[in-house]
Amino acid sequence: MKAAVFYGKEDIRVETIADITPKAGEVLIQIKACGVCGTDMHIYDGAEGAAKTTPPTILGHEFSGIVQAVGDGVHRVKAGDRVCVDPNDMCGECWYCKQGAGHFCENMIGIGTTINGGFAEFCVVREKQVYTIPDALSFEEAAMAEPIACCLHGMDLTGIRPGETVLIVGGGTIGLIMLQLVKLSGAAMVILAEPIAAKREKAMMLGADIVLDPATENLEDVMAKHSIYAINAAIECVGNVSTMRYAIDHTGKGGTAMLFGLTAPEARMDILPFDLFKNEITVKASFINPYTQTRAIALLGRHKIDVKSLITDIVPLDDINDIFAKKRYQGHGKIIVKP
Ligand SMILES: [Zn+2]
Ligand SMILES: [Zn+2]
Repeated sequence: MKAAVFYGKEDIRVETIADITPKAGEVLIQIKACGVCGTDMHIYDGAEGAAKTTPPTILGHEFSGIVQAVGDGVHRVKAGDRVCVDPNDMCGECWYCKQGAGHFCENMIGIGTTINGGFAEFCVVREKQVYTIPDALSFEEAAMAEPIACCLHGMDLTGIRPGETVLIVGGGTIGLIMLQLVKLSGAAMVILAEPIAAKREKAMMLGADIVLDPATENLEDVMAKHSIYAINAAIECVGNVSTMRYAIDHTGKGGTAMLFGLTAPEARMDILPFDLFKNEITVKASFINPYTQTRAIALLGRHKIDVKSLITDIVPLDDINDIFAKKRYQGHGKIIVKP
């Protein structure tokens, strides 16, 4: 089969490797669509994502496809089923798993990070990671279930209540998913800060109440103009220290700043504890997608979230280095690789 193998920093090669077959309890999936995540770019550039990758590995953890074959003992899915995958395989036996916090699993297997993933024609995964998808869902849309599941965990931790005012920092794929989830959660006012005009336009189309360019517009002025007194929650979706400061600094008294974006592991930031104290600001972070995959698929299947307009490019597997090495799609939206 054909696969894009990651050999180490800045080295991905498309090659023909040995065909794979499912063992007992495993499912062989013919991959139809695999999204490119910020994590994949971080790993390619030599940094660490949510899990540590030991090359050679096939990256890609946001994928969907058709079940090609199943191993002994697999009963929940069969050949021909349309499926997507939760890439984070928790052991269910360690201290964290026993506490219902499986995302902190000490034996976590990451499909597309610690073991081979979806930038290939086929992938083998354990049955429990496989979710069937509704017929109404395209493979490209279903590949978005994992990032939506991650955003849902962030939303759960942020705890937005109907009627609240929410600031989203960054209008990339994650920011635009968060925007839609925040709308669904009943927020009365959603403000999105994003320097790129095309992304601001997309945010307006997807239901933002106010968009602004943080490089040229002052958020306090914009709020005053719209008679907004304070922000209940700010969700940072970029992963830079400066945008995280922006989110914290603009969170109103008693509010929550959710630092959702992934920074470099060594990034540090200044926080003024006195400001947190006098404003009772809660600063939170969110790690991967524990127990949220089913809800993500339900939202997609009922078309409660528009992901079609987030996908800007579909790239053949053969041309994967246009994405990674040549960075040809930088600044675009979601990129989907198709074997
Ligand atoms: Zn991802
Ligand atoms: Zn565990």
